[in-house]
Amino acid sequence: MSAVAIKGWCPGALRPMQSGDGLVVRIRPRGGRLDAIQAAGIAELSARHGNGLIDLTSRANLQIRGVSEEGYPFLIEGLAGLGLLDADSDTEAQRNVLVTPFWTGADDTQSLAAELERALATASLDLPTKFGFAIDDGSERVLAGASADIRIERDRKGALLVRADGALLGRPVTRSDAVPVALAMAEWFMASGGATNEKRRMAAHLAGGASLPLSLRGDAEPVAQSADPGPGLYLAGAMVGVAFGQMPHQTLSHLAASTQALRMTPWRMVLVEGMHEMPRGADLVTEADDPALRVIACSGAPRCREAHADTRKLATALAPHIPADARLHVSGCAKGCAHSGPADVTLVATHEGFDLIRHGTVRDALVLRGLTGAGIIANPSVLTGGH
Ligand code: SF4
Repeated sequence: MSAVAIKGWCPGALRPMQSGDGLVVRIRPRGGRLDAIQAAGIAELSARHGNGLIDLTSRANLQIRGVSEEGYPFLIEGLAGLGLLDADSDTEAQRNVLVTPFWTGADDTQSLAAELERALATASLDLPTKFGFAIDDGSERVLAGASADIRIERDRKGALLVRADGALLGRPVTRSDAVPVALAMAEWFMASGGATNEKRRMAAHLAGGASLPLSLRGDAEPVAQSADPGPGLYLAGAMVGVAFGQMPHQTLSHLAASTQALRMTPWRMVLVEGMHEMPRGADLVTEADDPALRVIACSGAPRCREAHADTRKLATALAPHIPADARLHVSGCAKGCAHSGPADVTLVATHEGFDLIRHGTVRDALVLRGLTGAGIIANPSVLTGGH
C-alpha cells in the first residue's frame, strides 16, 4: 500500500491524522450504527494495530488511536473487511451525517440516513470538511446542540421539515422530498459562497447576510429541543458513557458481546441496542450525576505532543467542583480538539500556564491568564469568578 496520506484536520480512515501518540484513524459508522461484529472487530484492530484506546467523538464517530505507519495498511484492510470503508477519502469526508440514536424500526430515521448517505456518495458538492447533516426526526430534537449545517426534523404535528442551521424555521417536506431538499440546500450553500465564509458553516453564512432562496425557505417550526440526554435506560436500549469519551479496547469488546448493535451519539456515549439494564464495567459512566460527565478534556500530555499540560489529570481533579448543570473544557493547547463549541468554563494550556475563558470557546476572549493547575485545584472558585 502507498505511503499514508497524513492531513491536518478532520481525519478519516482513509485520511488519518498524525497526533502525539501516532496516527488517529476515524471511523464513521453508517447510519450511526455498528453491528456487534463490526464493534468487536474495531476493538480487535485497536488492540492489534493501535495503542488500544478508542475515542468517541462529538460527531458520533470512533477513533482508533496510536496507530503506527507500519500497522496502518493492515488496519485499513481490517476495516474494509468489516464493511467500514468508503470508496475514497473524498466520499468519506462528505459523509458527515449525525443520526438520532432513539429511532425505532417503525420510523423513517434509518431509511433517511441511508438515502442521504447514498446521495452524498454520488453528489459532487465539495463541501467543507466540517459541514454536516443531522437526522433528528424524533418527537423531540435531541441533536439541536450538536454540530450540523442542515437538519431534517419534525414540526409539532409530526411532519418532516428541512432546516438550515441558524434559521429558526424550516421548509416543510414530504418523506420523498426530504433528502433532495437537503442536498439542494447544500448546493445552494456552495453556490452562494458559503465555503468562502471564514467559518465555512451554514449558521455563519446566514448570519453574514446570505438569504435562502424561496424554494428552500419555509415557515415550519421544529419541535422543542430537549436537553442533552444522559446515561440511562431508553426504549431503544441502554446508553452509557466513558470518561473523556475514550475507552480501552476491552470495553468496546465487552459492549459488543452484550448486544446486536451499538448506536453512536454525539454526547460521547453509546446506546447499547436492545439492552434493558445498565451494563457494568469499571470504565463505564452509567449515572447521570457522575462528575466525569461535567468535564471535557482532549488527550493532553503525555498522549499528545502539542499539549502543554496533562488535561485529564486536571479535569479529573476539578470535576467534583463543577456544578451538575455546567461544563468545564480543559484543552492542552489552543486547537481545542475535544470540543469546538462553548463551555461554561474553558481552560487552555499555554507555555505560560492556563488561560481561562467563561461561556465561550478556546477561540474567545480570555478573562484570566497564567493560572497554574495546582493553583486552580487549591482554589477552584476561580473557575466561576470567586476568589
Ligand atoms: S487540543 Fe489537545 S489533543 Fe488537540 S492538539 Fe492540542 S493538546 Fe493535542
